Amino acid sequence: MPIYEYRCTGCGKEFEVIQKPTDGPDGIACPSCGKAKPEKLLSSCCGTSPNKAEGATGDSSCGTRRFS
Ligand SMILES: [Zn+2]
Repeated sequence: MPIYEYRCTGCGKEFEVIQKPTDGPDGIACPSCGKAKPEKLLSSCCGTSPNKAEGATGDSSCGTRRFS
């Protein structure tokens, strides 16, 4: 299951939660202060993949151009 990052709307603490993609913040509580329904952040997974994809696309397009 993917990891999602949340930020507590009460104390501002950021924490990671492993949950199903279909689950929302409803059942999640801040581990620091216990406040429910934290704010959802972009996961670290989504944050890093665009950069990697960009590099990979550049390499493959060069290769494709050469081959075609
Ligand atoms: Zn909190």
